[in-house]
Amino acid sequence: MIQSKCHVKVDDKVKVIAGKDKGKIGKVLKVNRKKNRVLVENINIVKRHTKPSATNRQGGIVEGEVPIRWDNVMLMCNKCVKPVRVGMQQLEDGKKVRVCRECKEIMDS
Ligand SMILES: [Zn+2]
Repeated sequence: MIQSKCHVKVDDKVKVIAGKDKGKIGKVLKVNRKKNRVLVENINIVKRHTKPSATNRQGGIVEGEVPIRWDNVMLMCNKCVKPVRVGMQQLEDGKKVRVCRECKEIMDS
């Protein structure tokens, strides 16, 4: 299977389409293109045990987001108000922008 390119960017609103947080919507905090993962606000919260350190003498359990595979999320289109497939379009000035494949709305400002 050929994977399409990652169109997700920081600050995008995405919907989770697979995994334990399926159906939830969150904001992209970080994109790791090398690992094909995205960190999404309030998605995939995992409790982690931490060892005692200088700043946290007790150690303990810390909750935080863990990046998920970007192909488990879909970009939300503000116009369609639903997750959509994204295409690329080249503008007259040569700039490439993302477009919603449903309503053809440009998704980059
Ligand atoms: Zn749309």
